[in-house]
Amino acid sequence: MTETFPAYLISKTDDGQIAERRKLSTDDLMEGDVTVKVEYSALNYKDGLALTGKAPVVRRFPLVPGIDFAGEVIESANDRFNAGDKVVLNGFGVGEVHSGGFAGVARVKGDWLVPLPGTFSSRQAMAIGTAGYTAMLCVMALESHGLTPGAGDILVTGAAGGVGSVAVSLLARSGYRVVASTGRPEEQEYLTGLGAAEIVDRHEFSGKAKPLSRERWAAAVDVAGGNTLANVLSQVNYGGAVSACGLADSMELPASVAPFILRGVALLGVDSVMAPLDKREQAWRRLEKELDLDMLERMTVEIGFDELPQAGEQILAGKIRGRTVVKIPG
Ligand code: NDP
Repeated sequence: MTETFPAYLISKTDDGQIAERRKLSTDDLMEGDVTVKVEYSALNYKDGLALTGKAPVVRRFPLVPGIDFAGEVIESANDRFNAGDKVVLNGFGVGEVHSGGFAGVARVKGDWLVPLPGTFSSRQAMAIGTAGYTAMLCVMALESHGLTPGAGDILVTGAAGGVGSVAVSLLARSGYRVVASTGRPEEQEYLTGLGAAEIVDRHEFSGKAKPLSRERWAAAVDVAGGNTLANVLSQVNYGGAVSACGLADSMELPASVAPFILRGVALLGVDSVMAPLDKREQAWRRLEKELDLDMLERMTVEIGFDELPQAGEQILAGKIRGRTVVKIPG
């Protein structure tokens, strides 16, 4: 008899989609040349959208959600991996068009996997997860633009969320003066603990943006889009840059070209899902060197497999702080 493992499965219904707890076997998994025993997964904003069906993140049914996971290879027909290797996966459409990490076993293309950096346990890799790895990509994008510590204040929006928390921590540890924008004033102590020098209320960025405002930021990491990003762009110093990776405020960008053509501001798009392997490996290497693991633990909460649907609702409501890891039962 084929062994079964617990999983969430999203199926299409007449009204939309439904996420259910099921027992699956490896026969239920999709094509791939590496099979992984999933040890930890994480809850990302996109997982919240997939679990609740509030946005059409899942585009193939039935499908196991979970855009990232870390675990141990059980079987491999890929030259890069052998049984027993520890691996980490982020993106590549996993949890969207290919079954993902909210299951005891995952089968994926080996080309999508990164060897788990030696410094990290599976749990730590997922505490970083897609949000943390994206935060590193945002920092790398700003550095490629020429940003160095001492340039001035760096704004991080959605600072109490997953990408934001890791970005604050990484930038502060590298010597940048970080200003954290949050809608949760009660998280002031948490954010200063991560290294933020100053906290600003995110409502400062929620109104309609002027084409140009007073220059305030040498650079910014933005997870929000919408009016937030438009306002941030209008306040970036001459020659500065914004790494934009998210849409927690809105998918729209009601901005003027003035910051680009009058201040030479650069808008740097950051995508983690299809980022090439060499960039991923570089990001993970940098995280190994630059992320303070005590700080990572401080921003991480572990939940049980049963708690995922409720946590999915909470992350969309902006009620989850930092990172949430999920222990996957065997
Ligand atoms: P979280 O839910 O953990 O954090 C998002 C944070 O955004 C919230 O905690 C809140 O922070 C802030 N926020 C919520 N609503 C609004 C609003 N209306 N206006 C301004 N700020 C708001 O999500 P993640 O950190 O995991 O992801 C953040 C964004 O980045 C998401 O949109 C996600 O889809 C995207 N993303 C993109 C990736 C890519 O590859 N491009 C990869 C990973 C994530 P606070 O309470 O501090 O204000």
